[in-house]
Amino acid sequence: MIVVMAPTANQEQLNHVVALVEEMGLKSHIIVGTNRTVVAAVGDKRGVDKGALENLPGVEKIVPILSPYKVASTEVKQEKTIVRLLPYGPALGGKKLGVIAGPCSVEDRNQLLDLAGQLKEAGAVGLRGGAFKPRTSPYSFQGLAEKGLEYLAEAREQTGLAVVTEVLTVTQVDLVAKYADVLQVGARNMQNFMLLKAIGEQPKPVLLKRGMSATMEEFLLAAEYIINAGNSNVILCERGIRTFEEYCRNTLALSLIPAIKHVSHLPIIVDPTHGTGHAYLVEPMSMAAIAAGADGLIIEVHPDPEHALTDAAQQIDVGTFKQLMARAGRVAAAIDRAI
Ligand code: PEP
Ligand code: MN
Repeated sequence: MIVVMAPTANQEQLNHVVALVEEMGLKSHIIVGTNRTVVAAVGDKRGVDKGALENLPGVEKIVPILSPYKVASTEVKQEKTIVRLLPYGPALGGKKLGVIAGPCSVEDRNQLLDLAGQLKEAGAVGLRGGAFKPRTSPYSFQGLAEKGLEYLAEAREQTGLAVVTEVLTVTQVDLVAKYADVLQVGARNMQNFMLLKAIGEQPKPVLLKRGMSATMEEFLLAAEYIINAGNSNVILCERGIRTFEEYCRNTLALSLIPAIKHVSHLPIIVDPTHGTGHAYLVEPMSMAAIAAGADGLIIEVHPDPEHALTDAAQQIDVGTFKQLMARAGRVAAAIDRAI
């Protein structure tokens, strides 16, 4: 339920509401809007008497939250959530779009540092790269682990790009958070609820990728786990879903972008790389994603895609990325946004 505070309510009255909500065994999320403050009270409501809250001083009304996801929904918060990738750094969710780029996997120090410089120059705000890779085959390259994280952190020091990298397990959360700026939950882990909770208990922003067979509701409920655990800096990422289509690696569901924006305040970006599986489809689908209202893109770029250790078919080279960025700026301008 949402406890809507009166416009005249003071801090003491707000504290009182929060204390009673928590005494009832519910979690409270205070959302300060432009017009008024609300307290979202979520949790198991069996035995909770909302009448007790209704009569508190400073409370205007109690409104039930109808959607299955609560704190991720526009019922609780109408203003868009803006997530900063770095403290005082670039943000996603506002008028300006952000592009995160980099190799599928971190492979080599010099290669990564050199690439990061070129991506920054081309206008990227974040550097992606897997140090821990979720591979279908146990015989495939699994990533450089902590060494890879060190190279990513070094690339951030040199370029100012925010580092976005994947966490595979609960036991890796602290290690990855030590080096990364944004923690990525991969498609295969979208419903790893223990991981979602653990990642929600640390403060760095989270990039949550849509599971390959997840519905929109399941996707938002996964975000709800993270927010509920204490971290509201969640960026959603549409990366394609499995359908009967075989030519494209996944089917990029761009209708999800406006649909999510209709029901949630969270920023959503698009991964046209895993969403298509073919390098030549990355640019057209990037343009389509921007036109559909995406708050940003995450794109695999490799200096030498032919020799990439992972996902060679879908990584674009730096020249293609530069051209993509120039076009992306024009598409964004056409819908009154910028890159
Ligand atoms: C990735 O971004 O490196 C990745 C493995 O993507 P996904 O989890 O979407 O498959
Ligand atoms: Mn990849």
